[in-house]
Amino acid sequence: MNKRRHPLDKPARSTRTAPTGSALGPGYSAANSNTRIHGPRPFTLPQSPIRTPDAPAVNLGLNSDRLRLQMVHRLREQGITDERVLSAMQAVPRHLFVDQGLASRAYEDAALPIGYGQTISQPWVVAHMLAVMSDGRTLARVLEIGAGCGYQAAVLAQFVPEVYAIERVRGLYDQARLNLAQGRARGRVRLSFGDGMQGLEHRAPFDGIVVAAAGVKIPEALLHQLAVGARLIAPEGTAHQRLILIERTGPSSWHRLELDDVRFVPLRPGTQT
Ligand code: SAH
Repeated sequence: MNKRRHPLDKPARSTRTAPTGSALGPGYSAANSNTRIHGPRPFTLPQSPIRTPDAPAVNLGLNSDRLRLQMVHRLREQGITDERVLSAMQAVPRHLFVDQGLASRAYEDAALPIGYGQTISQPWVVAHMLAVMSDGRTLARVLEIGAGCGYQAAVLAQFVPEVYAIERVRGLYDQARLNLAQGRARGRVRLSFGDGMQGLEHRAPFDGIVVAAAGVKIPEALLHQLAVGARLIAPEGTAHQRLILIERTGPSSWHRLELDDVRFVPLRPGTQT
């Protein structure tokens, strides 16, 4: 057992108030989302130009380039400026990572259920986390905790040569493997089944770490697996969650910044078979 003090143990310095509204879409609960929560001030999304197609999911492939273009356009309007992230989101067919019955909703700015009480993250959340984590750096090796259906790992793999992703639910791990095998990310994502709270010690250090599930505290093992100068982004908290950005500034120093209010599925220890 590691008896060291958690490197980020210090009094909370946030004075911000709890959010009063949420941006959760229909069909899933607050405890099941991976979305941004808008703060007290009302935030209006740009009018969605997407009409939900009535055609079955199998036909979506024909329209999906255009639907993704519209999704990327919305992401730009919502403040995402990192061109590598935007072109990665344009390249990955999100509809292939959700159940066929939900494929027609794949390009809405919403989290969607993927089974086992988990969700594929909202596109804005994926784009924002990856943009903030990479911050213009060239990343050779990145770790994702909470692969789910594999979507975010596939997006990462468009601009990162070595992506490691860990999933703790066996059924989702199997699904992610299938999803990743059929896409252009093949070979660039090394997926493991296990508890991501431990990280992947034997592959560390990482040029970036992205955590897609919220723990009470960011696991200490992950902080030690960051390269010096690299960034980790993770949601933290239980009822009230916030995105936390951590930059490793030296061998034993980390800088912590609190960002947006969010709602993520919980980070859980161990595995589920
Ligand atoms: N990255 C996904 C989001 C999936 S939701 C996307 O592309 O949309 C978050 C995932 O984290 C869930 O699948 C959940 O099972 C997983 N998870 C939670 N705790 C975990 C842990 N300790 N290790 C690995 N995965 C974990």
